[in-house]
Amino acid sequence: MTAKKESAQERIDRLHAGGVIDLHFDLPMDLYEKRERKNVLKTEFLPEFETGNISVVGVAIYIEDRYLPELGLRVALDQIARLHAEVQTCERFAICRSYREIQKARDEGKIALLITMEGVEPFGTDLNLLRVFYELGVRAIGLTHARRNAAGAGGVFAATGSSHDGLTAFGRDLVRECERLGVIVDLAHINPAGFDDILSITTKPRIVSHTNARRYYDIERNISDEQIKMVGERRGVIGVNSVLVSPREDESTIDRYIDHIEYIANLIGIDGVGIGFDFFEFIYRQWPESRQKELAAKFTMPHFIPDLTNHSHARNLIRRLIERGFRDEQIEEILFRNWRRIFQELL
Ligand SMILES: [Zn+2]
Repeated sequence: MTAKKESAQERIDRLHAGGVIDLHFDLPMDLYEKRERKNVLKTEFLPEFETGNISVVGVAIYIEDRYLPELGLRVALDQIARLHAEVQTCERFAICRSYREIQKARDEGKIALLITMEGVEPFGTDLNLLRVFYELGVRAIGLTHARRNAAGAGGVFAATGSSHDGLTAFGRDLVRECERLGVIVDLAHINPAGFDDILSITTKPRIVSHTNARRYYDIERNISDEQIKMVGERRGVIGVNSVLVSPREDESTIDRYIDHIEYIANLIGIDGVGIGFDFFEFIYRQWPESRQKELAAKFTMPHFIPDLTNHSHARNLIRRLIERGFRDEQIEEILFRNWRRIFQELL
């Protein structure tokens, strides 16, 4: 053999070169809040995406309480408008609506943005609006955030106490119509009863874009072993979340993040695990202290993983996966292959 042995750094670089898919990022909301500025995507986000070699990002439309109910639809439309306007001024990005478009963007070296929605408040109770948002490019929808809406109720940030109600009739109609249109139904945040309902009325693989195992953080916003297995039986994928890995700050580490990956993989196989970082520190940092306290009181105190707080940190995760003994093909499945399979099958 003449080939020289690959160094640890070379191995990280090689695995990293495949690109990283993150299925949950609160980008549209931030672009909307900064709508008076230009080139926000290019100056504030592109450098971190490039350092992290992020290949596809699920960017979630989310409406904050202060805009509801009256402005929900309008703010959602404005978030999409900001996204298009920002992408137009930065040719490194492409908004993608199908697997084929994602592939094309990657062939051209662009970062693919997949528009998702977290909470269907913008629809009110109007099923027609799903069609409108579909035409605007929305390709994955989680029915709720933590609050209740016309479709269903979110899981609480506590071990018990979520509503026992499943989906409303409107929620069920939405789910069926999503499956018919080719919009991925995302199980993130939904309460346990709603979770069961969605699985019972659908047949395609289901995803949970950003969540964690209750084994390490026991809140109903995360998912139980039984729920993990249900997603596995459907050949779905679970994106592991970086801001809810532990209720304790000192346990919020990359190792605990990987514990969630390992735990889910042990239950349903490595092909059921992906990434849904939910990086949120950049928004949290912009808030006044009063608002940060409000978040802690309403949901939970977020604990950011120091060396995994934004997209530029992707290599830190790869390095630690290698050190923990994951094989190359397993790391590639986690980083991009599993989500790519979902896109190929559902979009
Ligand atoms: Zn979320």
